Amino acid sequence: MPKARKPFVDFRDIRSRITMEQVLSHYKLLDTFKRSGNSLSGACPIHKGTNKTQFRVDTEKNIWNCFSECKHGGNTLDFITKMENCSIHDAAIKACEWFDISFDEVKGADAEPEEKAAAAKSAAKSRPAPPPAPDDNKPNPALKFRLDKLQREHPYLIQERGLTLETIIDFGLGYFTGDRGMMVGHIVIPIQNIKGELVAYAGRWPGEPPDADTPKYKIPPGFKKSQEVFNLDHAIKEPADKPLVIVEGFFDVIKLHQNGYRKVVAIMGDSMSSVQEELIRRHTDKNGLIIIMLDENAAGQAGRKDIAGRLSEHCLVKTHVFDQPDAEPEYLTAEEVQRLLGGVV
Ligand SMILES: [Zn+2]
Repeated sequence: MPKARKPFVDFRDIRSRITMEQVLSHYKLLDTFKRSGNSLSGACPIHKGTNKTQFRVDTEKNIWNCFSECKHGGNTLDFITKMENCSIHDAAIKACEWFDISFDEVKGADAEPEEKAAAAKSAAKSRPAPPPAPDDNKPNPALKFRLDKLQREHPYLIQERGLTLETIIDFGLGYFTGDRGMMVGHIVIPIQNIKGELVAYAGRWPGEPPDADTPKYKIPPGFKKSQEVFNLDHAIKEPADKPLVIVEGFFDVIKLHQNGYRKVVAIMGDSMSSVQEELIRRHTDKNGLIIIMLDENAAGQAGRKDIAGRLSEHCLVKTHVFDQPDAEPEYLTAEEVQRLLGGVV
């Protein structure tokens, strides 16, 4: 007997159509939470806790986190998987049923050829086809899965990197405790494209790698980091008159964000690809200011010179030179960030 095939659905699309508030009210839980701005707090309905401060929901970002037994957080579909103890696929199907989303509208790219053709046909009515691109310039596709089993309060993030739980959740970081896949034993860093779609997880070995064969960072094979600018999807939501700060690494972005400067992006290295240049240009006004703040070492110095040359044709560019050799934006204190960037207009 062949297994009955389940409909393929696009998780991201479904997620964009539902809110945490809708999901909580489906479970008749919404009224049990205390509201404060964009935040809801209450007892964790997943592990059925009683402490009313341990479960928090961000109603704007549509994410949740249990700071107690679950030590886990996630998005709307993750919440349903926990409540129903089901797969993410089943959670997506349930969400479609509960919130009246038609399967046709959220058909994933993995659908069978005829379904795919039908879905493409109906999508073509509302959307113009994207221009054809050469293969190596093909954008990174959005991931169809989410890593579960992330330990948020990991010592590497809290103690070694000095991150707060709020920052960790904001960036979706965590130590992957699963037992399969290339991210086993790594801190994962979700990378989103300009549209906010998850396109990859970068893995960071938590600490100094044990030997020369273990790299500090792991990037999934096939993922082209030259196509993405880390955190640009969030940075473009900051005021247009605020300078855009360009740094090298994930943790430079994350730490500047935590220290109060949120219009910051990383080129994930010390050089800027042409696609990254185009993305940055497209989202920076001609009257805008870009501040290049790469690491104070030979590669960073060469990189900032090249990037400044290329971007200054487009807008005003300042390069930040650190006094100390080997200084990095990540190591700036909140006061230094305020002093360096708080006053810039
Ligand atoms: Zn819980």
